[in-house]
Amino acid sequence: MTEQNKNELKKKKWPVINQKECAGCSVCVEACPMECLRIGMPKFRGDIHTTAELAKPDCCIGCGICAQNCPIRAIVMTEKNDK
Ligand code: SF4
Ligand code: SF4
Repeated sequence: MTEQNKNELKKKKWPVINQKECAGCSVCVEACPMECLRIGMPKFRGDIHTTAELAKPDCCIGCGICAQNCPIRAIVMTEKNDK
């Protein structure tokens, strides 16, 4: 994929992670070719519901691989509103 194609894709779609549904399994983190997802830190002592988050949004090319690989469909690719 060329840089131009990547940038075109980047403009169109954006992964939105449903924080309530996400099980924190890391499948999407492993699947992302750009390494822009991560599992977030616990929010309080004893927090066992850590979830995926888009840590490096500028690296995301909007490919949708994360959404395709999430076993419980907790990621939805949505239209990105360019800032
Ligand atoms: S859309 Fe592609 S580049 Fe962006 S977070 Fe998902 S797998 Fe990574
Ligand atoms: S693959 Fe789905 S359930 Fe697993 S961490 Fe990613 S968004 Fe959450």
